[in-house]
Amino acid sequence: MSSPKPTWSLADLQKIIAHHWGYRTLRPLQDQAMQAVLDGRDSLVVLPTGGGKSLCYQAPAVLRGGTTVVISPLIALMKDQVDSLRACGIAAASIDSSLSATERFAYEMDVRQGEVRLLFLSPERLVQTAFYRVLQQIEVHTFAIDEAHCISHWGHDFRPEYRQLRRLREFFPQAAVHAYTATATEAVRRDIIAQLALQNPVVLVGNFDRPNLLYRVLPRHDVLKQTLEVLERHQGEAGIIYCLRRRDVDELAAALRKKHIKALPYHAGMSSEERQAVQDAFASEQVDVIVATVAFGMGIDRSNVRFVLHTAMPKSLEHYQQETGRAGRDGLEAECVLLYSGADIITFKSMLTKSAQEAGTEAHLPNVFQHLDDMDRYCRGAVCRHRALVRYFGQDYAPDNCNACDLCLGDTEAVPDALIVAQKILSCVARVKQSFGIGHVIAVLRGENTENVRKRGHDKLTTFGLLKGHSRADVRDWVYQLIAQEVLQQVGDDYPVLRLNDASWEVMRGQRQVRLVQLVRRKKGQRPEKTKMETISWEGVDRELFEALRRLRRDLARERQVSAFIIFEDRVLRELARVRPSTLERMRLVPGVGDKRLRDFGARFLELIVDHCRARGLPFDVPPVC
Ligand code: ADP
Repeated sequence: MSSPKPTWSLADLQKIIAHHWGYRTLRPLQDQAMQAVLDGRDSLVVLPTGGGKSLCYQAPAVLRGGTTVVISPLIALMKDQVDSLRACGIAAASIDSSLSATERFAYEMDVRQGEVRLLFLSPERLVQTAFYRVLQQIEVHTFAIDEAHCISHWGHDFRPEYRQLRRLREFFPQAAVHAYTATATEAVRRDIIAQLALQNPVVLVGNFDRPNLLYRVLPRHDVLKQTLEVLERHQGEAGIIYCLRRRDVDELAAALRKKHIKALPYHAGMSSEERQAVQDAFASEQVDVIVATVAFGMGIDRSNVRFVLHTAMPKSLEHYQQETGRAGRDGLEAECVLLYSGADIITFKSMLTKSAQEAGTEAHLPNVFQHLDDMDRYCRGAVCRHRALVRYFGQDYAPDNCNACDLCLGDTEAVPDALIVAQKILSCVARVKQSFGIGHVIAVLRGENTENVRKRGHDKLTTFGLLKGHSRADVRDWVYQLIAQEVLQQVGDDYPVLRLNDASWEVMRGQRQVRLVQLVRRKKGQRPEKTKMETISWEGVDRELFEALRRLRRDLARERQVSAFIIFEDRVLRELARVRPSTLERMRLVPGVGDKRLRDFGARFLELIVDHCRARGLPFDVPPVC
């Protein structure tokens, strides 16, 4: 007679979570996702980055006992997860190619003896014959597939190795399989279920909005200057600056270093050792700013990235969501700035057409262009950014004002008399006989008395000086906005010139409307609006103490060779710097301080807090903000 199936309740789970992780509440859908694991029912869980997917399989693994196997695409991700679990006092291991033969043997022994609660593996290793036999012997009953979208061709991170996971069902017919991803599209979801042959799975799809992210799309005038403005707002904080090309990465990183900003470059042209060194420096908080191509990606687990800056438009909204998703994983406020020019889509289309022609893949171009057009529309759009993103991924967005995007915060404003401005620009293109590029048309419109303008007699045109008093950058931006609205064209590769089309004449005759925007003028040094979230999350925090706690965390991370957030996350440090606990018992009440971390690090942090407060006469044990 088989023994009755043990039953576990969510209350048991909550005790485990409070003990190991120090969390007292669950995030949306975590309870249902954990229940599916406890019930041994297949599941697909789609939660945005930072939504807390890991806890959904980690906590039940501890409660149920036995070994849960987690499939993860990158060694760096596995290492962070294993370090983080061990810091919580949970037996975890990863068996990967970075181990020596002796280490691997030792871990395999631990696995055989059932001592490992969570075992991290790459998909290739899972299906190695010798290894899956070990797993069969220990009767693995739960598999968690992290970054499950990697199995799908439709996703943006397809990994052929993931396809091998189809064999899981064959090898482990009794086990439950749980797939986790942040990738939202319907096609990818369906594909994951089919590829993994999930049986009657519980499908949980969370809210894709990331309310802690502040989105800004700003007209690009001067990349270096605008980058410095963003850095100024995020002094001492972590950020990623994305550039289109390797050359742009090297140049911008060098320019920042000249300004004494410690920024490291990262792109596929560097050796793998160089890239690894940059990743490690970033993870351990030795360096805070990375300038990179999109090659800097999935292995980046640092949870306190406070800004992501795109110096040009990404290729699709899926890419944008993924790249900005690296900001604010800890749930605290973070800023995502995109520097946009109407020229971006033109550059992209010509670049991609050329490479498709060379590779003979022109058939894919319409699909690629569709993604570019969607991205371009988002940049130009007048719709709240949170709403536009959430809607793109097929969900509704209720609030009227997100309070966390350039449009809702009033960073940009409509240009008054946009139609007249547009008519001036288009007439000037007509007057110079549609034979000149943007630079020249701008010079004529601004009434620049230059040799080039005079020698062509363009200082005599009726359109000369029509936009006098406006900056070059503004006029350039409006020209690109008109191109983006397809009421003006830029043609020619070597010397692109501005040309009119039928829509241009409609605008000139006043039969067609256009919309132009410009940045709201701020006084010099005036910061753009802060979000409500930013204000609240810093309320009562002693910044000086927070910085001191961060330094201590950095030292501990270096000593232990782990990523800094493994010690304590920013959220915990901020709370410590707000509450300023006087004893270890009080410190234990701060969310994110579990028993093992308290034992390992509590005394060091407490000593620092007590010294800091005594020296400044600051009160201890401030009640938490509700
Ligand atoms: P995802 O994998 O979905 O991107 P993670 O699993 O890395 O997200 O979780 C993001 C952060 O949220 C981590 O720091 C994690 O410890 C924290 N977290 C998860 N669940 C909770 C919870 N219930 N309460 C507080 N913090 C949580």
